[in-house]
Amino acid sequence: MKVLVTGGAGYIGSHVVRQLGEAGHDIVVYDNLSTGHPWAVTYGELVQADLADTDALDAVFEKGRFEAVLHFAANIVVPESVENPLKYYSNNTRNTLNLLGAIQKHKVPYLVFSSTAAVYGMPENTMITEETPLMPINPYGASKMMSERMIQDLAFATDLNYTILRYFNVAGADLESRIGQATPEATHLIKVACECVQGVRAGMKVFGTDYDTRDGTCIRDYIHVDDLAKAHVMALDHMKAGGGSNIFNCGYGRGFTVKEVIDVVKAESGKDFPVEEVARRAGDPDALVAMNDKIKSVLGWKPDHDDLSVIVKSALNWEAVWQKKQKES
Ligand code: UDP
Repeated sequence: MKVLVTGGAGYIGSHVVRQLGEAGHDIVVYDNLSTGHPWAVTYGELVQADLADTDALDAVFEKGRFEAVLHFAANIVVPESVENPLKYYSNNTRNTLNLLGAIQKHKVPYLVFSSTAAVYGMPENTMITEETPLMPINPYGASKMMSERMIQDLAFATDLNYTILRYFNVAGADLESRIGQATPEATHLIKVACECVQGVRAGMKVFGTDYDTRDGTCIRDYIHVDDLAKAHVMALDHMKAGGGSNIFNCGYGRGFTVKEVIDVVKAESGKDFPVEEVARRAGDPDALVAMNDKIKSVLGWKPDHDDLSVIVKSALNWEAVWQKKQKES
């Protein structure tokens, strides 16, 4: 298929581009390179442009005649979204509106959208299905929820088919360390711990040890980025085969605590580093775990890397490569 990938130079987008390229799709990446990197685009053509630039967007659609769009481009830092909400409503929600305008105008039939477990907010039941009510507790989650709604409304009014993927905690990297998470000022747990191993940080903090969990720290469902990427490729194939529109949670259906994750990073790297226990971070629910029955039964998706050690090892290997790459440039 001829596909447009917005945000294809970023962490998750670049892993999806690799798999799309390996599957023989013809790819154009549309990325403003605010957090992405040209070297991360391993297949297809890279167009450096912003989704706010509707003329540039229209020109790319006019030339590309795409059959599908995969939309990753977004800001994703929750605390930043609380401090600067309009950045999120503009870069995430309004830019999705721009993209949908181009999709409608150029009659693109298929869309895969990157959404997030943050749309659920702080659910009462920690095992989350796709029917769990959407009650985001920060502008990041709200910006994605609004985008989901616009996509659904457009699909209702036109021939557009969509797949909305709600990601849980994405981690790890390409097993050959060709690409990985290279976003500046990352805040995600496994990335932060890997930076400690590499000596980029002197130590790290555990936010809250009084949660209602087995060791008092938060439980999250960590999914390897290549298993998540596979879900995108399968979603495209499913829509193309007439499967229609869907929303899927993307996670493994099991969780690890913050302390368990840090222990695995220390064990796999053989390095110790200082860990300070501090107060809770605002807006962290005790536990978030995906019910993934739907994606398994509808798409036939199944994980290849459901092993925290594999996730952590791939993240550690990538972090070493990435730190070296930065020193050399
Ligand atoms: N966390 C932590 N220290 C860090 C980063 C994260 O204790 O330096 C905790 C965070 O409070 C949460 C879990 O790790 O309970 C996962 O956080 P992350 O930011 O990776 O993902 P989120 O679940 O917020 O999307």
